[in-house]
Amino acid sequence: MKKDDLITVKIEDLSSDGLGVGHHDGMAFFIKDTVIGDVVEAKIMKLKKTYGYARLMRLLEPSPDRVEPPCPVARQCGGCQIQAMRYPAQLRFKEAKVRSNLIRIGKFENPPMELIIGMEQPYRYRNKAQFPIGRDRNGALVAGFYAGRTHDIIACEDCLLGHEVNAQILAIVLHHMEKYGISPYDEQTGAGLVRHVMTRVGFHTEQIMVCIVINGTALPHSRELAAALCEIPGMTSITLNVNRERTNVIMGREILPVWGQTWIEDKIRTDGWSSAGGASDSDGSSVSDSLGGLSSLDGFVRFRISPLSFYQVNPVQMEKLYGKALEYAALTGTEIVWDLYCGIGTISLFLARKAKQVYGVEIVPQAIHDAQENAALNGITNAEFFVGKAEDILPAKYEAEGISADVIVVDPPRKGCEESVLATMIQMAPKRIVYVSCDSATLARDLHYLCEHGYQLEKCCPTDMFGNSVHVETVCQIVRKREYNL
Ligand code: SAH
Repeated sequence: MKKDDLITVKIEDLSSDGLGVGHHDGMAFFIKDTVIGDVVEAKIMKLKKTYGYARLMRLLEPSPDRVEPPCPVARQCGGCQIQAMRYPAQLRFKEAKVRSNLIRIGKFENPPMELIIGMEQPYRYRNKAQFPIGRDRNGALVAGFYAGRTHDIIACEDCLLGHEVNAQILAIVLHHMEKYGISPYDEQTGAGLVRHVMTRVGFHTEQIMVCIVINGTALPHSRELAAALCEIPGMTSITLNVNRERTNVIMGREILPVWGQTWIEDKIRTDGWSSAGGASDSDGSSVSDSLGGLSSLDGFVRFRISPLSFYQVNPVQMEKLYGKALEYAALTGTEIVWDLYCGIGTISLFLARKAKQVYGVEIVPQAIHDAQENAALNGITNAEFFVGKAEDILPAKYEAEGISADVIVVDPPRKGCEESVLATMIQMAPKRIVYVSCDSATLARDLHYLCEHGYQLEKCCPTDMFGNSVHVETVCQIVRKREYNL
């Protein structure tokens, strides 16, 4: 086998970044734009010792799970790696990925998995979008996305994962730039003003935020722009974000108000989980009965979201995910609960309604500020937040102040929990741990550690937060083994 050879490959799996994987002559080949089940003819582009990369030349037998992607730029855009895969097949793929990581890395023979929670509508689900602004090859102003590794912007003002209002917002911004001769930012030279347009929509409140990221401190005629944007029903917040750094980090640190508030509000439905429960306590008794009377007053928790705060991008699935996390926490109202990696306190404030006391820990100070504001906004007084690394705060609070835990919830970034965090958790000996994860490989590694130290994996539920992408979220209930409950 050598470079440029044509080979026939049956696609058996997808890599973590969405490339099709199949075998030929004992070698694994990664082939872009293929779907599990396809038989393809591919040209070898690169050969390593045990694997290679090949380019799709001809689809010999399309997979029964292959569909025509509805987005015209699906192939050029890196955002949706698996749009060509029928949605039920996407869910099967994600479920299998979680199961295989739990078996391979977690060493669970038969992981106790619940059915994956899929989306009713895997399009138009994102509440946030960030469009780079630039010029196309003909010099026309465009909003869209960067194509591959180039600096070309492919025009795409209506990403099918986002809200329809984005196209309207972008048309107004581009028209304004045209009218007043405002230049887009040029990544290569560092010149030009307008870098990105970021939008957020509160799905429950229908409030809209527009934040224009600029390489400067003012946008010419911004009042006229605001007047035009205000014609859109629901417009609530128009701001500028100053980013003068020559990096590909999208947002800078400074927010300048243009019109309205500097934040929008959204709500998360909590009544979906007020009847949740049925989880068995580790002593075998059911705690579901005691959950009913503790539901929140109006069925919602409100959140103030500023342009720089992290907020889950799929609000519909977020409610289901948090509902599952709460079911697994199985609170009765008497527990001391820790929410590690808490962000703006979304999970903490959910839990607070059903717990005695919640402690949240988060590394970003601005997020903790938002978490405190959000607690006040909801009249929640039994939640306290600490800024710092989970690996510093948790041992300090436990060892120096003796604060205990009945339930610990963790929702770490992709790299998972530091082993020292897991070690402190084990020392604190909570009855239950709820692990929310966006990377099932690090999840499996951490679960293995917990299960070697007196815990057992009771339940596990994958949830699709990112339809048409390869990513999958998972929530797990881990309980202390009975023999460790003295
Ligand atoms: N639970 C929140 C946020 C989850 S995202 C929600 O659902 O909205 C993970 C969070 O962990 C981010 O807010 C990130 O800033 C924070 N984080 C990353 N490393 C951390 C660490 N070592 N200690 C504490 N928080 C950390």
